[in-house]
Formats: sequence, C-alpha cells, structure tokens
Amino acid sequence: MPLITETDVLVVGAGPAGLSAALCLARLGIRVKIVERRILGEVAGQADGIQSRTVEIWDNLGMGDKLRQLGTTVYQLATYAPNEDQTGIKLANKVLNIPLPSARYPYELILHAKHMEEIMRDALSGVQVHVEQPCGRAISYQAERLAASKIQPYEREKAISDQSLVDHVETIRARYVIACDGAHSWVRQQCGITMEGTSPGLAYGVIDFTPVTDFPTSRAKNILQSPLSGALGYIPKPNNTARLYILLKDPDVIQDLDQSSDKERTRKISQIITNGFLPYDMRVENVTWCNTYKVSQRVASRFSHKGCIFVAGDACHIHSPNAGQGANVSMVDAYNLSWKLAYVMRGWASKAILDTYELERRPYSLELIEFDKVIEKLFRPEGLSPDEFAQLWHRHLLFITGLGLRYKSPLIVSDRFHDTMAGATIGQRFPPVEVIRYMDWTPCNTLDIIGYSMKFKLIVFAGDTTKPAIKQRCVDFIDKLSQTSRLRELVTTSIVLCVKKEESISGFIQLQGNMIDTQIFIDDGINPGRNPGLAHEIFKVSPDMGASALIRPDGHVAMVIPVSSDQVHLIEEYLSSL
Ligand SMILES: Cc1cc2nc3c(=O)[nH]c(=O)nc-3n(C[C@H](O)[C@H](O)[C@H](O)COP(=O)(O)OP(=O)(O)OC[C@H]3O[C@@H](n4cnc5c(N)ncnc54)[C@H](O)[C@@H]3O)c2cc1C
Repeated sequence: MPLITETDVLVVGAGPAGLSAALCLARLGIRVKIVERRILGEVAGQADGIQSRTVEIWDNLGMGDKLRQLGTTVYQLATYAPNEDQTGIKLANKVLNIPLPSARYPYELILHAKHMEEIMRDALSGVQVHVEQPCGRAISYQAERLAASKIQPYEREKAISDQSLVDHVETIRARYVIACDGAHSWVRQQCGITMEGTSPGLAYGVIDFTPVTDFPTSRAKNILQSPLSGALGYIPKPNNTARLYILLKDPDVIQDLDQSSDKERTRKISQIITNGFLPYDMRVENVTWCNTYKVSQRVASRFSHKGCIFVAGDACHIHSPNAGQGANVSMVDAYNLSWKLAYVMRGWASKAILDTYELERRPYSLELIEFDKVIEKLFRPEGLSPDEFAQLWHRHLLFITGLGLRYKSPLIVSDRFHDTMAGATIGQRFPPVEVIRYMDWTPCNTLDIIGYSMKFKLIVFAGDTTKPAIKQRCVDFIDKLSQTSRLRELVTTSIVLCVKKEESISGFIQLQGNMIDTQIFIDDGINPGRNPGLAHEIFKVSPDMGASALIRPDGHVAMVIPVSSDQVHLIEEYLSSL
C-alpha cells in the first residue's frame, strides 16, 4: 500500500540550512516535513564558527542560551609573523576580534557542527517536528505537475540503504519545497539551476585536535605566517580542543596527502603544525578529524524554480571556510525565506513576496564570493602580512558578523524619513539597545522585544512625553494605528517613552488597555550609569520629534516614519502591498 502524506513545506536536507528552515517554519505555525539521507548520528557539515548576528537569531529561535552554554567565545585575534632569522614565528599583534559597538555579542562563538545540529534538533522536537532519516538517496519529483496543481507531489524512496525497505515508496505532497541538500544538491540539479563561478585552485588541510602546548595565545583566534609551514589559521574550540587550517600550495603535497591513509595524512599534517608553531611547542594529540579539501567559489544562477522550489544554503552558494561564513549564511537564507512562505500560506501576502528571497539573498551571496577572494589573499605567498590581515578583518567586520547585512528590495521602503531615526539603517537589522519594561522595570533588549513571530513590529520612540504636545501627538498616532484592521492583524507595537521611570505615564496605560498587543517601555535604566534618553540618543531620535520603525519578522527595518497620525497610511499601504 503506497504511503501518501501531505505537508505545507518539504525541506530536503537536515544540515544548518534545512534544520533552520524547518524550525523557523514550525515556529510560525506552518506544517513542515524534513527529510535527510544520512543515517542518524552521522554529522553533515564541519562548521564551527557562529557569527554575532547568528547568535541573535538563535536567541530569537529560543536556542541562544544553549549555544552560549556549550560554545567557546572568541574575543581576541592574535597574529604571528616570521621571526628575524626565519626559524619560527613571533607575536605581531593582539587585537579584539569583534570591536563593534553595534554588536550585542562582540565575539565569535565556536561550537562543533554536531552540537549545533543537536541543539537545532532538540528545538525542532519541541515544536513536534522530527527529522525523517535515513530517506532514500534519490528524491524524485514530478515537475510537470508543479505549475498546474495547488498541492504538488514529490516522491522519494525511503530508507533505500535498508534493503528490507527498498520497495517502500512514500509520496509526499507539499505546496513548497526548500532544497537544503548541500553543495551537490540533487534538487537543484533537477531544476536545471546551474552554479556559476570558479575554483581558485586552493587546497587546505584541516584538523581538529587537542593541543598540548606552551603557545601563549592558544585560547584566542590566531593567524600565523610561518617561514617553515606557510599560512596557518588556529581556532580555539570547546573543552580545550582546537581546529587548524593549513594552506596547501604544493600540488605534489596535496596529491600525496590525498592519497595517504587517514593515519599517514594525520601524521604529515601534525608535522606541518609542529614546525609551523616553532619556537613554541605545539603537539597534536587526540585528533578527531583530519582532511583536505579544495575550494570552489560559486553561486546558483537562480534561487528558485517555478515559484515553489527554493534553494538555500550550500545548495546555492559555496566558498572557502576562511571567514567562517557558510553555515551562518545558510541559516540566514532560511530565516529570510521562512516568514515570506508563511505569509503566503496564511494569505497575508501575495506570491510576489517570494521573489524577494532571491532579490535579497543572491546579491549578498555574490558579495560573499567577492569577500572570499579578498580574504583568500592571506593564504597566497604574495598576499597579506598578518597585520594587514587583522586590518582587513576589522574593515570587513560588519560583513563578517552579519550585522551589516542590508537588504534592498521592494520590501524595503525608501529612506524618506531616515533622518528622524538616523541611528537605525533602513534594510539592516534593528540594532540592540536596553530599555526597561514599564510594568515591572525589567531591563529589556530591543532585539528581545522584536523576537520572532509572524508579526511585524512597530517600535515607536515617542520622545519626551512629559511635554503635553508630544504626548498628544503620540496618543493620536497610536489611536490611528488601532483603527486600522490590517495593522491590528499584522503588527505588534512597542512604545518607548523618553522619560524617567518614576514619571507617571497614566495616559499611555489607558491607551494600552484600548489596544491589543501594545507594550510600553521606558528609555531609562535601573543601573545608575544608564541615563534616561540613551536609546533615543543612540538611535538619533529627537526627544521633541520622536520616530517609529516598522520591522519585518526577520528583524530588518522595512521603513521609518514620523510619530504622526497623518503618516499611518504609509504603514497601511506597505502592508497592503505585501
Ligand atoms: C572545514 C570546514 C570548516 C567550515 N567552517 C565553517 C565555519 O566556521 N562557519 C560557517 O558558517 N561555515 C563553515 N563551513 C561551511 C559549512 O559547513 C557549510 O556552509 C554548511 O554546512 C552548509 O549548510 P547546508 O545545510 O546548506 O548544507 P550541508 O551542511 O551540506 O547539509 C546538507 C544536508 O543535506 C543532506 N542531503 C543531501 N542530499 C540529500 C537528498 N537527496 N535527500 C535528503 N538529504 C540530502 C546531506 O546529507 C546533509 O545533511 C565550513 C566548512 C568546512 C568544510
């Protein structure tokens, strides 16, 4: 008896992209099925570096605490250059890894891919979604029916690796498919989507191990230019372990390592490391993974097919792991796409919104490849010195951390009123700042206030509402918002008053009673060092004028408008245009 199941979204592949997509969709109340061909316990990716923006996203998905609990934080970046007599290395520089005031988490978080996956799977179980694995190696779908029917059929052979189940075929009917099946994506190939780009001809050795060492900065991230072993990248990992990247330039060495047994390869790479750290003692013990790989820099020609199959993660962009981006970017792909799919399925937006996935994510992927080419210079003989690398790293920090990601698409409205809130950039993620919740004086970060849900968030910096005219303007604005049904349905409003917490805000409390989903915050702190009005100052909002930001479910600022009932129609028009 053939098994037929139905779902809203079928996610193919349970690496970082697939698990994130399934989790985001399930959190938004969408029925999702996720299938994976690996057997349980086998790990897919090798990612271990989580960037600042991704940590924020994990917070929103309820996984941030676990991530911080299990991961290692990297606050410092040290660089080493050849010493005078070219017999070893010497410390060149020690700097902060992420010196960014706009970072809520000014560090890179290191956690093994296996543990990242476990955290995501646990979170998925919490929303009653379980990865179905192992599914068959081949997943076929009936492309000709895609455009015609409302619910499209997808077929896969299940558990092909288990001979007793070879004859068992399950058909999954899904309205949408997200292909998160990695760099060699089978789904992408079936859709005729090509990968465009080149292979720069670089190869790396990579090894996970326990360092036994007197190397002084072994708990920092280190970039070494060794006269004996070339460029090395050292990343501290949890439980006093580490990962090391080695550039392999010599084709004979690459071939030799490729053809070596695992044991031989490990021995040879360990020797390169021991030499590379001289005069420090660096012994490689308890190796848990050792491999070589060649870098490609490619982006998919399209990110979707027939408006119902979407490609995410390594399936649509591949590059070197030099800046720890792949898994991060893959998860952000999922974060970008999921709410848009959910909006279409709920009937809150037209299908056109799905086109903005490619419009927003593909240019970013192309930028990533360009950045990869810049950073790769470190690993070329004629390339960057360690100091130049540190400077380059800092110059591109907003990009590396994901905090500078700025979307440009029809979903981002012109910056006509940007000056009224110049501290936030339209198209970028809304920045973090601490305010206090009026009802209990609990300190709250704006990123937590925004959170992750189906709704847009309207953050209203009301200004100094001790002044009657300003208070009245804000009250009128909120009143007008509450009269608009589309707004009530799609938007949660938070008002931040630029007053001292001891100030009476009675007019607003009454207002809150009238309006569902409105929260009141005070631009003040509970610590003596935190001045009233700091958030208005950081966001460059005049306390005499106020300003408000409409924020998308993925945290990016869609538009900024003045606190004026005359301008509420702009939000209404925006929401109607979705
Ligand atoms: C050495 C190394 C270090 C790295 N370090 C970092 C880092 O520090 N930070 C970072 O962000 N990135 C890093 N990356 C990159 C990162 O690992 C990848 O970008 C990331 O894993 C991509 O996630 P994904 O979900 O798109 O694909 P994958 O992780 O490849 O997952 C795809 C999944 O799909 C499954 N699959 C494939 N075909 C099918 C099918 N037909 N049916 C069902 N399932 C299928 C696969 O089994 C796999 O589980 C590193 C990569 C390497 C190699």
